Amino acid sequence: MTTNSEWQARKEKAMARGQGNLAPVYIERAENAELWDVEGNRYIDFGSGIAVTNTGHSNPKVKAAAIEQIEKFSHTCVMVTPYDSAVQLAEQLNELAPGNTPKKTIFVTTGAEAVENCVKIARAHTGRRGLIAFNGGFHGRTNMTMALTGKVAPYKSKFGPFPAEIYHAPFPNEYHGISVEDSLKALELLFKVEIEASDVAAIIVEPIQGEGGFYVAPPEFMQAIRALCDKHGIVMIADEIQTGFGRTGKFFCSEYSDVEPDLMTTAKGIAGGFPLAAVVGKAEIMDAPLPGGLGGTYGGSPVGCAAALAVIEVMKEENLVQRANQIGDQFIENMKNLQQQYPDRIGDVRNRGAMIAIELVQNGNADEPDADLCKALVGAAMERGLVLLSCGLYGNVIRFLPPLTISDEIIEEGLGIIAECFEEL
Ligand code: PLP
Repeated sequence: MTTNSEWQARKEKAMARGQGNLAPVYIERAENAELWDVEGNRYIDFGSGIAVTNTGHSNPKVKAAAIEQIEKFSHTCVMVTPYDSAVQLAEQLNELAPGNTPKKTIFVTTGAEAVENCVKIARAHTGRRGLIAFNGGFHGRTNMTMALTGKVAPYKSKFGPFPAEIYHAPFPNEYHGISVEDSLKALELLFKVEIEASDVAAIIVEPIQGEGGFYVAPPEFMQAIRALCDKHGIVMIADEIQTGFGRTGKFFCSEYSDVEPDLMTTAKGIAGGFPLAAVVGKAEIMDAPLPGGLGGTYGGSPVGCAAALAVIEVMKEENLVQRANQIGDQFIENMKNLQQQYPDRIGDVRNRGAMIAIELVQNGNADEPDADLCKALVGAAMERGLVLLSCGLYGNVIRFLPPLTISDEIIEEGLGIIAECFEEL
């Protein structure tokens, strides 16, 4: 048997450090909310491979749908000779997307590509160049999406120069004292001194900042962005790559604000682990680019589409959108108790559905982020068989993204491990 540390040594030799890993834990098998490594150690997964396996690892129905598709064919290319699963999935996404305006969809392979394509569509529709994104936001690792990303290290470090005509504004953040009014005033100022609103093609916003620290955009902020876009003919893009597919207790998080974005990205949870992403948007905007201008060789792969159709079926059959809220309640109750025990160290506890976070600080002070404690907690949890992920501008936020199919018992077991870690650290 090759051990975890032997694999890690081989990885470090064979793969570049830019694609680093959280821990030297090499997975051999995964089922629902549990993982087993090559040494036979078991882990509870509170991260879902970064919000991907919402329907659980190796979900039997998703797996069966993918295998059935592979047995028929695994590739022809949507842009050459398409197939029914892509059309069916587009139809379903058009229905599931927030709002009643007729929608159309295109498929790509990764979240970053979905964001890239939103920018292309918005520019083709408006004939404008300018783009506005938010501080602390994350949109991917390609050239354009890095430029839109507000968090610098490590995503943008050493990679400039970036595309021009991109501006950033503050994202509201109650815990850190940035109000919705502050953000909107900054946007107004940006329109006065940096770029005319009439030159802006799109504003891109995450309904909850994911990598940035799980900060929830208040509904009135999303509504104000919608109004601003309507006033100036700007395309509103909701980046729902992390927040979509039931994660937040609605199918898409924009529903909390009653806002219909013009374009929306979705990826991660869409296909239970098969690389698939999509842009879903208002039909008249989606049709702005010329035929052949969007997509890619693997965009909307038949296996991904078959898996995604099964994911949607499982989500409906098992009421996973509602389940996200129960999971959130269970975590929040437990984390609030822990916060009472450790008020100096847990500064904030927040969630929307099963997108849950605790912010670690020193002296109970929001302005003293404790990245060291966060790192130690992730490490200690892994040693005890629990996968935790961190995020946040200062790396001091623990984010919980368990599969929506996880049982109450396994949640309790994982929460027990966290309590043990706090006792020790
Ligand atoms: N946008 C958001 C909000 C994300 O959370 C992510 C990934 O974490 C991306 C875009 C990029 O997606 P991908 O890693 O699939 O390119």
